Amino acid sequence: MLDAPSNRPALPPEIARRRTFAIISHPDAGKTTLTEKFLLFGGAIQMAGQVRAKGEARRTRSDYMQMEKDRGISVSASAMSFDFKNFRFNLVDTPGHSDFSEDTYRTLTAVDAAIMVIDGAKGVESQTRKLFEVCRLRDLPILTFCNKMDRESRDVFEIIDEIQENLAIDVTPASWPIGMGRDFVGAYDMLNDRLELMDRADRNKVADSIQISGLDDPKLAEHVPAGLLEQLKEEVEMARELLPALDKQAVLEGHMTPIWFGSAINSFGVKELMEGIGNYAPEPQPARAEPRQIAPEEQKVAGFVFKVQANMDPKHRDRVAFVRLASGHFERGMKLTHVRSKKAMTVSAPVLFLASDRELAEEAWAGDIIGIPNHGQLRIGDTLTEGETLKVTGIPSFAPELLQSVRAGDPMKAKHLEKALYQFAEEGAAKVFKPSIGSGYIVGVVGALQFEVLGARIESEYGLPVRFEPSQFTSARWVHGPKDAVETFAAKNTQHIATDNDGDTVYLTRMQWDIDRVERDYPEVTLSATKEMM
Ligand code: GDP
Repeated sequence: MLDAPSNRPALPPEIARRRTFAIISHPDAGKTTLTEKFLLFGGAIQMAGQVRAKGEARRTRSDYMQMEKDRGISVSASAMSFDFKNFRFNLVDTPGHSDFSEDTYRTLTAVDAAIMVIDGAKGVESQTRKLFEVCRLRDLPILTFCNKMDRESRDVFEIIDEIQENLAIDVTPASWPIGMGRDFVGAYDMLNDRLELMDRADRNKVADSIQISGLDDPKLAEHVPAGLLEQLKEEVEMARELLPALDKQAVLEGHMTPIWFGSAINSFGVKELMEGIGNYAPEPQPARAEPRQIAPEEQKVAGFVFKVQANMDPKHRDRVAFVRLASGHFERGMKLTHVRSKKAMTVSAPVLFLASDRELAEEAWAGDIIGIPNHGQLRIGDTLTEGETLKVTGIPSFAPELLQSVRAGDPMKAKHLEKALYQFAEEGAAKVFKPSIGSGYIVGVVGALQFEVLGARIESEYGLPVRFEPSQFTSARWVHGPKDAVETFAAKNTQHIATDNDGDTVYLTRMQWDIDRVERDYPEVTLSATKEMM
């Protein structure tokens, strides 16, 4: 069990000012636009448009990225740091497509909160719901941004009801929109009693804030047309009667989400949301670990790898391990213990993912994300400490739902293929199984699109054309149990047995019946659909 937030000691100021979060949304809701405005107001970029432009420059580098662009999906996750007021924000990007849900799940282990972006005309969409469920599994606090209020959108009460019913979470309005579509003028900031007006002339300009004292303040009439003002007063009164008031504790426990209404493209509502993240999203939280949890205020540095990205720069065969610092104050050049191998590792060239570019990190604190270039020593789920044997838990690997055999287009290149497959497996992009009988490999993924990405990447990053072929198997289960029992079981079922990329035994299944049969015939053996990353 983690400590309840109220029992936790005060954090050192450098740590307490950090907010590490991800954005979850359905494609097209406005995640990229919102990210760009965050960076703009965080001073990380000078002009809106740069994130997209940079993204495109990067994407043209390979076919795989081209594919990402064509499909309008973001396959690779990255991290961005920027300052806002007294806060240091760390935004970790999540792939939006459901075929990459395992990646998303692991990314969400590295954040303390999520921003849910919904389109005001569309409400809660399928992908929003799926990602929300993942956040719920981790009890992550969620702040909501209802975007595109400059367009015809749904009735505000209807949107709020839909979130409450669909996602079973209390919703409290942090702001209330005034008008919508062409008549949208801005919002009433319910938390700070301010009127926020949208500037339609300049999309990158922040709206004016006008301090008022309640909705009867005569100042309102100077800015809001009479009809809309009447409507605003009525709606806010109703909202205060019908909807719960903001309860920070309930937000931190993930039972309540405050909602802001805005228009990312017009920079409207973004600053209020950023203030909200500062005020209502949690400080860096303790990390679950064995044999004890790791608290951010601990003096000693500890961190864990939640993502590995290979070949970020195709010219250098390096990999970057994305590490969430769980505790302490990290300084460049520090010697850390890689707990799995018990080896010391000098972290001499860590990178911070500042929006402008990869930059060398001189220091970082609990809550930050740093990138550690390495040659394959660091794997997803690995823990780094200053010597203590601690293992961060809760970073699972899921059984694949689709399996295919893979072959090199050129049979002479089979060894190269093996290397590429293992590399992608370590990155978490796929599972690789070596059947105990025969040659060749079986690749397992969660979503079909992953096969395409994998094929394109093996070709572009290793120069190896590959073919995927249907496999008789549909899923895999990790085999556990007493050593003897597992060995007997494996010997009698060789045609179903394989080893995964960590060398663990798996049972390849064709249908549920296979699993039922094993459970019936081998009571000492258990088959599991998830495995903790080592
Ligand atoms: P993502 O797929 O969630 O990253 O969405 P994008 O940020 O790429 O936005 C999808 C589309 O919606 C783009 O054409 C944006 O220009 C547009 N868009 C984003 N925010 C707004 C908004 O506040 N109002 C309107 N009208 N369009 C928006």
